[in-house]
Amino acid sequence: MDGDPQFDFDFIVIGSGFGGSVSAHRLVEKGYRVAVMEMGRRWTPGNLPHTSWSLHRWLWRPKLGLRGFFNIQFFRHATIFHGSAVGGGSITYACTLLPPPEKVWIAGSWTGLSDWKTEMPRHYETAARMLGVTENRILGPADLLLKKAAETSGAGQTFYCTKVGIFEPGVGEQGGTTFPDPYFGGEGPARTTCIGCGGCMMGCRYGAKNTLDLGYLYLAEKHGAQLFPETRVVDVRPLSNAHDGSAGYEVGTVQSIAWFRRRPRRFTCRGVIFSASSLGTMELLFLLKEKGSLPAISGQLGQHVRTNSESLIGARTPGTLLDVSQGIAIGSGIYIDEHTHIEAVRYPKGSDAMGFLTTILTDGRPGPRRIALWVWNVIASMLRHPFKTVRVLQPLGWAREFVILLCMQALDGEIEMRWQRPWFWPFRKFLVSHGEKVPTYIPKANEFAKTLAQLTGGFPMSMLPEILFNVPGTAHCIGGCVIADSSTHGVVDSRHRVFNYKNMYICDGSVVAANLGVNPSLTITALAERAMSFIPPAAEAEWNDTAEPSSR
Ligand SMILES: Cc1cc2nc3c(=O)[nH]c(=O)nc-3n(C[C@H](O)[C@H](O)[C@H](O)COP(=O)(O)OP(=O)(O)OC[C@H]3O[C@@H](n4cnc5c(N)ncnc54)[C@H](O)[C@@H]3O)c2cc1C
Ligand code: SF4
Repeated sequence: MDGDPQFDFDFIVIGSGFGGSVSAHRLVEKGYRVAVMEMGRRWTPGNLPHTSWSLHRWLWRPKLGLRGFFNIQFFRHATIFHGSAVGGGSITYACTLLPPPEKVWIAGSWTGLSDWKTEMPRHYETAARMLGVTENRILGPADLLLKKAAETSGAGQTFYCTKVGIFEPGVGEQGGTTFPDPYFGGEGPARTTCIGCGGCMMGCRYGAKNTLDLGYLYLAEKHGAQLFPETRVVDVRPLSNAHDGSAGYEVGTVQSIAWFRRRPRRFTCRGVIFSASSLGTMELLFLLKEKGSLPAISGQLGQHVRTNSESLIGARTPGTLLDVSQGIAIGSGIYIDEHTHIEAVRYPKGSDAMGFLTTILTDGRPGPRRIALWVWNVIASMLRHPFKTVRVLQPLGWAREFVILLCMQALDGEIEMRWQRPWFWPFRKFLVSHGEKVPTYIPKANEFAKTLAQLTGGFPMSMLPEILFNVPGTAHCIGGCVIADSSTHGVVDSRHRVFNYKNMYICDGSVVAANLGVNPSLTITALAERAMSFIPPAAEAEWNDTAEPSSR
């Protein structure tokens, strides 16, 4: 690993999520000197929060002193949840790892740019092996209720156990047993089997969830990648006036969690990989394009952002003896029709803070009439069951009593992100969403929540922000720097090379060019594996890699 001493590193990877960790590991394996800049903190079983009431260790909003790993960003078209940590979204994600249907390769701007259907299966296989994908064997009460409700609704045959990245005990075995590295032939850390505590989205404190810091990133660091946690990248500019980056790049960083003395630093490198997630990469590239550091980034930046059509609903049974927080975060799913997929989701016992956001189920069209209907529903429920209604509207006991249903619709819908001053804060620019609104009310999903509530004797529930603001929540924001044939249609080519720059790549959810209809992390990992497979070993590097426009 000699590299060119003129540069601090061969590659700098920005962000340590799925795309970033794959890139770091594969580049180190090929003999490159790699640095990974990550604005989030490093988490261990010792410092993870026990419940969501530890807001300062759960939420990421460093300017407010919240230094956790769960980031919420509010837009007019969606509330977007994502992770900020060493290991990116893997620290807070629910570890569901599903391949999308084949039809995604013939939709969107990546169509015809490669023989995706032939190429991708081997990268999905590698991704699944590296992330330790297995079929869930821990079915908790919420999964069994989902199955029962599906049978009542005539969708029982579609029930399935999710494919997850969790080290689960064998059939009939208890969780909580520690084994030497079960995944990487002894190269990885020791692991402990899952105890089904339902805490995956609060960060696993038992070493059972296959987070990236125990897999790809662990191996990258072990073999020489230098990781800079709590380090935010604020600049990337070509060196020596070679505007296309052919002479390398200078990367500027600041400390991400400091209020003052942010300790700006500069690093040089020959190549850059943007892996800051769909929102993070868009935000950084808009900033760099505007301030003149990377002015030639395609004008397609911010186009084709997809948020999935998602709705969170559920059923809460006050005073139930059944603890529905037991199991893994997402243990099972069903399809109530060809396009509508529902998963049973949970938070661990005691993580009740989200309970403030749930309310009595409300149907109806978005807007003031839905709000009026909601007020009426609450009053009617108060009159009919005053004590129970108060019990379901207060948060204590929420995680133990509430079966969360995540409803996803695989219908295509796009929004656009622009870099603008919002009307309420004209002092600086932010990402601002534009386009058609994604529906927050999915009638069939509401019917399903009612069926489930009847089975438990509980109350069907909606999310309050969906009713009040007609804004859906999503943890699956993708696109914004999509793969395309040229810079007129996207930001990167089919090998993830950024148009108009040399040795610059994007490997994260922002390149995904079609609606996947399933949780995206396995696809982001497989795409990054594919992108890295094109980069030659360090000894053969010519440092002249350029995006190629293609005629289909
Ligand atoms: C609660 C929750 C549950 C989820 N469950 C699932 C699931 O079950 N299955 C699934 O497939 N997906 C799930 N997701 C979505 C999944 O987490 C994301 O799709 C995935 O993490 C995206 O990967 P990525 O490589 O694009 O970036 P990320 O994993 O988001 O990583 C990007 C990293 O870049 C860092 N970064 C951003 N900007 C900068 C900067 N300027 N400088 C330095 N670092 C920067 C961020 O801090 C972050 O750590 C879930 C998400 C959430 C929030
Ligand atoms: S259920 Fe609990 S032990 Fe199992 S992976 Fe999730 S957090 Fe870890």
